[in-house]
Amino acid sequence: MSSLSLKHVTKAYPNGFAAVRDFDLEIDNQEFVVFTGPSGCGKSTILRMIAGLVDVTSGEIFIDGSLVNDLEPGDREIAMLFQNYMLYPHMSVYENLAFGLKLKRLPEEEITLRVREAAEFFGLSGMLDRDPQELTEGQRQSVVLGRTVVRKPRVFLIDGAFSGLEEGLRKQMRGEISRMNRELGMTIIYVTDDQAEVLALGTRTVAIKDGMIQQVGFPKNLYNQPDNVFVAGFLGFPQMNRAEVAAGNSKDGVTLTANGINLTLPDALGKVLEENGYLGKTVVLGIRPDALHKAQAKASENQMIQIEVRTREELGTGNFLHFDMGGTEWTACTDQQADPGDTVRLSVDMNQIHIFDKETRQAIVHGNQL
Ligand code: ATP
Repeated sequence: MSSLSLKHVTKAYPNGFAAVRDFDLEIDNQEFVVFTGPSGCGKSTILRMIAGLVDVTSGEIFIDGSLVNDLEPGDREIAMLFQNYMLYPHMSVYENLAFGLKLKRLPEEEITLRVREAAEFFGLSGMLDRDPQELTEGQRQSVVLGRTVVRKPRVFLIDGAFSGLEEGLRKQMRGEISRMNRELGMTIIYVTDDQAEVLALGTRTVAIKDGMIQQVGFPKNLYNQPDNVFVAGFLGFPQMNRAEVAAGNSKDGVTLTANGINLTLPDALGKVLEENGYLGKTVVLGIRPDALHKAQAKASENQMIQIEVRTREELGTGNFLHFDMGGTEWTACTDQQADPGDTVRLSVDMNQIHIFDKETRQAIVHGNQL
């Protein structure tokens, strides 16, 4: 397995559209990295450049320290799994696993060894003589992954491969991919636009928008301390509630106010806004639904919002309350019981709020970092 280095990689398609811009990333040997972002953000284009299927317009791609920009795809020793992969229906499981190795003219003993090892890894040892039709869907998917394992690629690229499967199977295949990384030491890049999948995978995540990296880190870090409004909104369901608020001053401290919002910040948070010149300016306030709680009797007035419930979704352990906040729909995930039309007060967990610059959209401060 190998390390991968992308240095200022850019892709402009012949029509002039810049799909990937100044993409700079180091991926370690045996690392499992997830690329995520909305449809059209350039995820597939980056993978195709790594695989050599699309030319790099500028910048450099290194595998194990060697420049591969001009290397043919077949010489890069990279495996890529797209959405519409298939097994050969008239070949046995063994033949399906061995096929690619036979094309590479590997010695028969080596092929047998690799196939048997892969079959054992995926629990397919007793099924090598079967046709694909005689397998469950999960076993067929394992054969597909096995075909990659036998090749021993330097890097394994996976692009939306399991998006057509039902959730149970997707989960199972995600588990297998993680195991391939953990137990076989495969270097893997996994592409998904499903933010729930990103949070479930728990590996290093690269959030991408408009062909540019927005943030790199563990999913929990991106979720808890998003670098900008895009990452804040992309990760997490329901989405982070957001509103433009005026940062001001009162006798109790720094305030954030807007229609329906009148919060006084804890001193440490207020100080950051003050010291960075935000008093008197508009900033973006972000509050995740689970940072809005049932108001306790002793809760401070200036750390609460009053809302009128528009709709309610029962969750068993609590409920989602949806309400209007200055023309935008907000959601609270809380054990506060309320019905549509009810007016309730919710306390805001100030340790969980996020404040962003309105113009640059970059984070100014997170309540959980102080
Ligand atoms: P998805 O998740 O929908 O597959 P993606 O994030 O993988 O999207 P890409 O397929 O890499 O995005 O496409 C990035 C952008 O480049 C899109 O706006 C797309 O329309 C554009 N694009 C892709 N291929 C070409 C091409 N051959 N010529 C011009 N523009 C292209």
